[in-house]
Parts: sequence; structure tokens; C-alpha cells
Amino acid sequence: MIIEQPAKYLRWLYPKAIWRMDPSEKSVYLTFDDGPIPEATPWIIETLERYGVKATFFMVGDNVRKHPKEFELVKSHGHRIGNHTYNHIGGVFLLAVNYLKNVDKANKVLKTDLFRPPRGWMRLIHYEVLRRHYKVIMWDLVTRDYSRRLTAEDVLNNVKRYARNGSIITFHDSLKSIDKLKTALPQSIEWLQEQGYEFKVFD
Ligand SMILES: [Zn+2]
Repeated sequence: MIIEQPAKYLRWLYPKAIWRMDPSEKSVYLTFDDGPIPEATPWIIETLERYGVKATFFMVGDNVRKHPKEFELVKSHGHRIGNHTYNHIGGVFLLAVNYLKNVDKANKVLKTDLFRPPRGWMRLIHYEVLRRHYKVIMWDLVTRDYSRRLTAEDVLNNVKRYARNGSIITFHDSLKSIDKLKTALPQSIEWLQEQGYEFKVFD
């Protein structure tokens, strides 16, 4: 099974969500989920700055509360902000809490029109409400930089294997991924630049 590229049935489940941008354009959209945290986010910002790349950060509201400095850092560098719920609600907890309230709570600080559900799942009833207020951004390629079974080289190879025109590429500014990203992120950016991809953020 290919995890890196989301299965067709998932794309059908949320048909109005955005999985991939214009396939006729030689561009990619880098996204970073789950931050901001001091251990990862500033290093990523610095790296993006070095290559002149702008990206989109799907942030967890509670991390913004804990790390306001890192939140300001991302904003001040002109990156795009997305909502990733207040408490990273996903999986079985979907049923136990008020999902939409949690998204609203996050947006009090994030103030964005982009939303990405944690783990790529939300109930259809929530999706129907959310898509009236947000562009729901999924992904075309998840690098699996969070996986303990993958090395930095595997992460880079996922980018090389699956990136294509209009790809929305997912990384994480998290403790699980940062060690791999220190090698894989600059190399991925360099490789994508060599291939002629332009880096874009969502309108
Ligand atoms: Zn997440």
C-alpha cells in the first residue's frame, strides 16, 4: 500500500478538499504541520529563508498559546498560516469532543481561511460545515518525516519519488521529524529547485 500518496477513496470522500494544485504548473506547495515549537520551527524558518522559499504552516492552537514567539516568527517571515485544530484532534477523539468548537478556538489566534484536519480525517458532517468557512487543504505527498522507521534519506527519496506538478507536500515541525528534516529538508529543496519547481503558498 502506498501511504505517501493518499488513496483515491480518500480523495473521493472529501471531493471539495484540495489535494493537489494545478497539474499543468511546475510548482509545489510545502506545508508544515503540528507546530509551532521552539525545537523545530525556528530552524525550519531559517532554512526556508536561506533558499528564499515560502511555505504554509498548519498550526495547533495550543502550541501557539505555549510558543507565541515562534508563532510571530513564522508570521513575520511572510509564511502562510493554516488551522490544524486547537488540540490536534483526530482519530477516535473525533467523536468525544466538539470538533468544530476546537477549530473555532484555534482560529481566534490563527485567523486564517485554511484548514487541514489532523491525520487527514474528519467526520463528513464536520467537513460540510468547515468547507463553508475554510479552504480544506489535504496533500498530494506526505513525506512521513515523523516515522521512526524512516531515515532522512528515505524522507528525501519520498520527495524525489512522488513530487509532481502541483504537489502539496507535507512535512512536520515536530520533535519526531526535526532530526530527519535537518538533512532531508535542505536536500529536498535543492532537488526540487534543480528540477525547476517553483515554491508557492496558497492564495
Ligand atoms: Zn497533524
